[in-house]
Amino acid sequence: MSDINPCMKHQVVRKAVREFAEAEIGPIAHDVDRDARFPWEVVEKMRPLNFFGLQTPKEYGGADLDTISYAIVIEEISRISAAVGLCLTVHNSVGIYPIVRFGTREQKQRFLPGLASGERIGGFCLTEANAGSDAGGVETHAIKDGDSYILNGTKIFVSNGGVCTTPLIFATVNPIDVRKGFSVFIVEKETPGFSVGEIEDLCGMRANPVSSLFFEDCRVPAVNLLGRPGEGLKIGLNALDTGRLGIAAQALGIAQAAFETSVKFARERHQFGQPIAANQTIQNYLADMATEIAAARLLLYRGCALKDEGKPFSAEAAMAKLYCSGLAMRVCTTAVQIHGGYGYSKEYDVERYFRDAKVTEIYEGTSEIQRMVIARSVLSAPA
Ligand SMILES: Cc1cc2nc3c(=O)[nH]c(=O)nc-3n(C[C@H](O)[C@H](O)[C@H](O)COP(=O)(O)OP(=O)(O)OC[C@H]3O[C@@H](n4cnc5c(N)ncnc54)[C@H](O)[C@@H]3O)c2cc1C
Repeated sequence: MSDINPCMKHQVVRKAVREFAEAEIGPIAHDVDRDARFPWEVVEKMRPLNFFGLQTPKEYGGADLDTISYAIVIEEISRISAAVGLCLTVHNSVGIYPIVRFGTREQKQRFLPGLASGERIGGFCLTEANAGSDAGGVETHAIKDGDSYILNGTKIFVSNGGVCTTPLIFATVNPIDVRKGFSVFIVEKETPGFSVGEIEDLCGMRANPVSSLFFEDCRVPAVNLLGRPGEGLKIGLNALDTGRLGIAAQALGIAQAAFETSVKFARERHQFGQPIAANQTIQNYLADMATEIAAARLLLYRGCALKDEGKPFSAEAAMAKLYCSGLAMRVCTTAVQIHGGYGYSKEYDVERYFRDAKVTEIYEGTSEIQRMVIARSVLSAPA
């Protein structure tokens, strides 16, 4: 583990989070997935340790971590439970970061301390029935009425949906020209007209309460508008750049877990009178996994470092997400293969890793959309 991060600060973060995750989440990770149960007891333990304010400035109660440290935290938590990793990455990146980046002083003072302490949980609500990869299809609208906006619409597939208390809602203030009016609102769960749908019955990430959110004549104070009316696309894309580093870290954590489990199994499982690890085919599988994981980690940390240096990192974040999520699927598929029939059994964690890995290629922009972002950057560079 020590050679993964040459920097002492990052080694310390990794060690501390790994110990916490193994001790506090490890014993229940399998069961909460089986039971599709959100682990509140883990949330209780994470709150005082600042897991909910990973990159929030210290003046609002956060830990103000650099982005490589942030990625390490998400990676190590996801190595044990990707569903808990999902809760943290959505909350800290796309849930909080837009408020840190675009919020007014008053909005920061009102919302950040509660979010950073984990007393309140964030969410990011862009997707709708007719708006997936194309945010231009958003139908949720917010009509100005005095010093409020009246929100109507339905958001689907909201990670943390069943537990979030302060989600960001993307809506248009101009139903005639959706893009022009595209805006973001900080909406508190207690607001009349806000309700939560059934928890989705999903293939993976089952311990995260992904759900729909409904807004019916929901009156949101105008002071909860994040940025200016019409700035939704800018804020959303900016948030997703940051979010994609978190999803890449989550995918990497899943891949790491599947790899470690495979090494252990290959040493222990005997066939033809020897450990299956004695076969060169299995050794090649493990060698390829180790190589790809190391490459993915460097790609991810490059994106994180660029962000911290204040340099453009949009294409690099898309590359990290594209590569790490694809890697997670490849590693998990091979891990199931190494485990043979046991890999297909719910008794073994490798089956969970396999299910959890798939969605990292889908949310916060599918792999096809990441390629669009990367290609745009490639083609816009001077010839
Ligand atoms: C577990 C889970 C959690 C989620 N959490 C959230 C959340 O917290 N907040 C949120 O807002 N959303 C969330 N989502 C939604 C997720 O971001 C969307 O599912 C995703 O963006 C894809 O949108 P879609 O499902 O409508 O697919 P579509 O956009 O309909 O795409 C279908 C297929 O067509 C491809 N495609 C679409 N357009 C193009 C194109 N121009 N070129 C090439 N291929 C294209 C896609 O890549 C995909 O393969 C979540 C989804 C899941 C499954």
